[in-house]
Amino acid sequence: MVTYEHDVHFPSKRNERNRVLILPIIAVFLLVGGALYVTTAPQFGAAPDEASQEIFASSPQFRNGRFENRGNVSVDLKGGSMFKTLMEFITSADTKPAQPLPVAAEAQQAPHAIPDTAVRVTWFGHSAIFLELEGKRILIDPMLGPAASPLPIFGKRFALKDRIDMSRFSRIDAVIISHDHYDHLDYRSIRKLKKHVRHFYVPLGVGSHLRRWGVPAERITELDWWESASFDGIELTATPAQHFSGRGLSDRNSTLWASWVIRGNHGNIFFSGDGGYGPHFKEIGERFGPFDLTMMECGQYNEKWAKIHSMPEESVQAHIDLRGEIMMPIHWGAFQLAVHPWTEPAERAIAAAEERQVAIMTPLIGQPVLLGSEFPKRRWWEKGTAASASTNTTGTDLAMMHTRLKTAGSEK
Ligand SMILES: [Zn+2]
Repeated sequence: MVTYEHDVHFPSKRNERNRVLILPIIAVFLLVGGALYVTTAPQFGAAPDEASQEIFASSPQFRNGRFENRGNVSVDLKGGSMFKTLMEFITSADTKPAQPLPVAAEAQQAPHAIPDTAVRVTWFGHSAIFLELEGKRILIDPMLGPAASPLPIFGKRFALKDRIDMSRFSRIDAVIISHDHYDHLDYRSIRKLKKHVRHFYVPLGVGSHLRRWGVPAERITELDWWESASFDGIELTATPAQHFSGRGLSDRNSTLWASWVIRGNHGNIFFSGDGGYGPHFKEIGERFGPFDLTMMECGQYNEKWAKIHSMPEESVQAHIDLRGEIMMPIHWGAFQLAVHPWTEPAERAIAAAEERQVAIMTPLIGQPVLLGSEFPKRRWWEKGTAASASTNTTGTDLAMMHTRLKTAGSEK
């Protein structure tokens, strides 16, 4: 009887012990592997080194090795668990377009030149902007990649109906970056664009990512809030935003985030970057307004993170605070990063703009708009109103865009 018990219990206890040992080994392996991946894979970028941090120490935004919002507003998600939020992401309706999105016919060919006195703005979905001012070509938050995340399976770009001619990006005078999140600063886009770009203007610390990706340090200017840089008659000023930063596991707020004022002789433009509503918009408006055009973040909002992303109604209020003439909603139309229907940012922004008598423009992806001419107001996302784009439905994303850029530009 005793022997029998031995026979039965001993081996099973050993199995149990083995199992107990294997689980932590797998966990350690996954953790070490994951950490190794995050520290070595280039898309995660590089946090600023100690020498840079010493320079940041004089910034009013820098405390205890990290950047802070005014009033120390933080990201903390209120209400509901991560699991609940994840379930909302899976179950919410209409968060993605049912069909590939139309692309303006003009975007499918190289653009025609405009006089240096004209200002032209072209939206490429989300917050990617091509701005022509004083005869110069400026790219803002050029996220042209297929996925707004470090792993291509997450945050995929909405499919496009037509290709975009990339030759327009083969000679860029300045790239402006608002912050280092994946939907604004894309490793693949920077790698492909860098040889075509004269100079990069970024908030404090963001240059360390660019340097890791092979952009020479002398072609990067890092600015704190309220600091300006000039080139060829254009003044760029990094202005406050209420947001956060980080690309990896341990670099939260190690680089600064900003909105931007872009001022030339023939146009004064505001670009919001990302951020929640706050008194800083009024202050920027007083110091740098009025603006001919404001490009305002109005998508990817949620009550849980209302402090660090604006609701569309707040975006309209911010535009009024800024003393803007025409508002263009951005941060929508390319990626699903929140749980609202994908067209809701534009719809809510239009409704709020109508109520407040704000002029709002909603160009197609790739539709160039000359400031001072009639601006596009059509709800192109509604069924039956899309542009008469050609019918070949090749989803456009970075891979295709970059093939074009390579052949069009000087990159060898
Ligand atoms: Zn964003």
